[in-house]
Amino acid sequence: VVLTPLRLEAWALSAALAGHGETVRVGYGLRRATAAAERLPRGADRPTAVAGFGGALAPGIAAGDVVVASEVRDGAGSAVPCPSASLVAGELRRAGLSVHVGPILTVDRVVRGAERGRLAASGALAVDMESYPLVRAAQAAGSPVVVIRAIVDTPDRPLARPVTAQASLAAWRSLRRAGRVLVRWAQVAGPRRVLLASPRSFCAGVERAIEIVERALELHGPPVYVRKQIVHNVHVVEDLRQRGAVFVDELDQVPAGATVVFSAHGVAPAVRDDAQRRGLSVIDASCPLVVKVHNEARRFARRGDTVLFIGHPGHEETVGTVGEAPDRMRLVSSVAQAREIEVSGPVSYLMQTTLAVDEATEIADALRERFPSLDGPSSEDICYATTNRQDALRAVAADADVVLVVGSQNSSNSKRLVEVAERSGTPAFLVDDATEIDLGWLRGATTVGLTAGASAPPALVQRVVDNLAGLGPVEVTERQVTEESVRFTLPKEVRGT
Ligand code: SF4
Repeated sequence: VVLTPLRLEAWALSAALAGHGETVRVGYGLRRATAAAERLPRGADRPTAVAGFGGALAPGIAAGDVVVASEVRDGAGSAVPCPSASLVAGELRRAGLSVHVGPILTVDRVVRGAERGRLAASGALAVDMESYPLVRAAQAAGSPVVVIRAIVDTPDRPLARPVTAQASLAAWRSLRRAGRVLVRWAQVAGPRRVLLASPRSFCAGVERAIEIVERALELHGPPVYVRKQIVHNVHVVEDLRQRGAVFVDELDQVPAGATVVFSAHGVAPAVRDDAQRRGLSVIDASCPLVVKVHNEARRFARRGDTVLFIGHPGHEETVGTVGEAPDRMRLVSSVAQAREIEVSGPVSYLMQTTLAVDEATEIADALRERFPSLDGPSSEDICYATTNRQDALRAVAADADVVLVVGSQNSSNSKRLVEVAERSGTPAFLVDDATEIDLGWLRGATTVGLTAGASAPPALVQRVVDNLAGLGPVEVTERQVTEESVRFTLPKEVRGT
């Protein structure tokens, strides 16, 4: 059911809702909405949307943009959360709309002039005159709730003819497109089980790398230059960027004499030499488990082996490790390559730390068949965090209808988690955060497996759970396959701050 104030708003939504739900006009203004809230059927736990026009409070929101409420406030200090806001916002963006997520304030009058700025200072993005009592009543009835407002007036363009007529048309069109998203949202509402894989999310190498940048910022003040993404996660990188880290692709973008942090994925010796030539002050955030593989590469190469490196072409860890002995190392990325590669003399192999265990084992087995005297690392190169996250996901994937992996597209270990779930026969999707969850994936999915790659912050996983809880009651079960207690010491350059 969509609760909407005016006939014009109901008209915008009618085409999308035909055959899928009903539009209930609640009338214009707080008094009518409060009365309508009293009439909402009790105990009707049906997905309820409040949709209509609204006024922007915050700058940067244009007529025709859509604001999705993260919570609805009443102006007297009370607020009702709308937990599935990110899911709806993502879907609206994919539908081509310009979308903002934040608090919406319900007031009892049209907001004009200086009052707009005063209300914006409270952090609310938009105002309306109906949502609060409706949302409160619907939630009390046990209904999942979402609130969207298509913006008509803004701080730059307040209500005034003929501007408002154009703005209303833009808002009306947006509302019409949003109707289809509301239907998709309602279709996936309902109770769910969430199976949380454990361990998941940050590993010791990632925590250390992030702490190194944070401490470097404290010690030296911004800017602190970081070569490549410190870890492969857009949220981590953006957060550090806002705190003063400057991410560069190569050292020639770093001013002479500045401090530069090397990322967790490790660097080739040529990069260290370059930094020294440029007089840069280096703090190395390479994960100690990557450094271990570099050491093995040097050892094998020094004794004259051809070193076959099982890894993904172009990944920074591969580039860095192969750079230890470029003349003696060869990259092998598949079983087919392992069967074809021609090598003479002594041969050894090493692996990228973030591979899928099953796939890497197959490649190593194929190499052993080809080269019976093949030497290998003293202990497995695939790191404890990669192995644990894959084992944990295997423990939930088979029982889930769909698996969500929180992580970025360039995160190797996150992508491997998707593959692990798919190998268990469960469809799996990699998302940077809740906004990237396609509502279609949740259709018919009453059990959702959830994990996160080693570079994804734990808070993002919690936000996914919160958003799923905005679709209906959620029962969360954690399946833990092992405990992790690994910690790495910080480099001396940032220790003791
Ligand atoms: S995934 Fe493994 S190798 Fe990579 S940073 Fe984490 S602990 Fe280190």
